Amino acid sequence: MKKHVLVLGGGFAGVQAAIELRRYDRFDVTLISDRDYLFLYPTSIWIPTRGTTLERTKVPLEDVRRAHGFSVLVDDVREIRTKDRSVVTASHTLTYDYLIVAVGAEKLTPPGVEHTLSICGKPEVSLDVRERLDALLEKGGGRIAVGFGGNPKDSSAVRGGPAFEFMFNVDHHLRRRKVRGNFELTFFAPMESPGERMGSGAVRAVNAMLNAKGIGRRFGTKIASFRPEGVLFEDGSHLAADLVMFIPGSSGHSLFRRSDLPLTEAGFIRIDDTGLVEGTTNVYAAGDSAAIDGPPWRAKQGHLAEVMARTAARNIVRQEEGSRERDGYGRHINILCIMDTGDGAALVYRDARRQMLVPLPVVGHWLKRAWGWYARVSKTSRLHLLPRL
Ligand SMILES: Cc1cc2nc3c(=O)[nH]c(=O)nc-3n(C[C@H](O)[C@H](O)[C@H](O)COP(=O)(O)OP(=O)(O)OC[C@H]3O[C@@H](n4cnc5c(N)ncnc54)[C@H](O)[C@@H]3O)c2cc1C
Repeated sequence: MKKHVLVLGGGFAGVQAAIELRRYDRFDVTLISDRDYLFLYPTSIWIPTRGTTLERTKVPLEDVRRAHGFSVLVDDVREIRTKDRSVVTASHTLTYDYLIVAVGAEKLTPPGVEHTLSICGKPEVSLDVRERLDALLEKGGGRIAVGFGGNPKDSSAVRGGPAFEFMFNVDHHLRRRKVRGNFELTFFAPMESPGERMGSGAVRAVNAMLNAKGIGRRFGTKIASFRPEGVLFEDGSHLAADLVMFIPGSSGHSLFRRSDLPLTEAGFIRIDDTGLVEGTTNVYAAGDSAAIDGPPWRAKQGHLAEVMARTAARNIVRQEEGSRERDGYGRHINILCIMDTGDGAALVYRDARRQMLVPLPVVGHWLKRAWGWYARVSKTSRLHLLPRL
């Protein structure tokens, strides 16, 4: 009889785990997601500046299911009970032989965060950002502040790259409309040197880009609260803004606190290098849900989520085969991103030995668009041009 694997979450990690497991005929795989689509977050940065649409950024899970042959259940997971091998959703209680938890993360809620909008939260919020940007364009000008924060309890739970990308894309969008002079753009972050995890060379290059584009900086001052009229800092200073796009630090999913999973102080699931959840023999976690162990500059990223998912899936296969051999995700930790600017991009890469930022004017932007195309095609068909790690 085939073993039943439940995969929780239809993001990069969950989809990758389900695809990988279906390469082996010995499992029945059910993926549960509260959305009926995979959201391609990396290309969603263009929604507010009308470089793409919400619909073009979604990959229907039905298309992925059809290509790879697993089951999809669109439902809200409410509780995970590892002790009795079951998962409670809004409408079912399901049992499993193996479980992969990949429901992503949630965001911290600093005071007044409701006065900000984020491109890293619910996908539909990108449409609200677009609407607010359009309204400022209609008005003829305004002040836009863009920033991100961290989580003092987990240095990997920070997402700064998309904030830089958004800012550079807004700048490009305004220049194309020849109204850049009517807008004041300011980038803010509580760290002295935001983006440090990309490497010191990359930080210098990004700061040079902000300067060259006339984008103001407010670095190194902690945020006290957000107000309808802007950002208030702990030193009493204020940044006036008509639109604040802010990406808070991440925290563990609230579902985990209702479950019997071992958690870090920041609320992420404790796993070992194989992806196995501590204290269990048949529960794995992958992607943003998991606490990532590694160098201080490690970051929760989409490609790492996929590596962790493949690792978990392969280790389940080995467990079933009775093999003692296991894969580990730790040796694959790196930072890899194409930081888009609207009219080009920079390739950022860091691993244990190298740090680099390679400017890719014009072609970089199209490389990122090509990645978006490939991400969709590789998930909705069996086409794989790139080697699997
Ligand atoms: C704007 C933006 C740009 C980014 N750019 C890059 C980039 O260029 N390169 C890169 O490597 N990374 C990038 N990232 C990071 C990357 O997108 C994340 O690391 C990645 O999405 C994590 O994948 P995941 O599957 O762990 O979580 P998610 O993608 O968050 O997926 C979680 C899934 O779980 C589902 N879910 C949540 N709660 C429940 C529940 N209770 N019940 C059922 N289902 C649930 C969600 O609907 C979703 O399908 C970016 C992120 C953002 C926000």
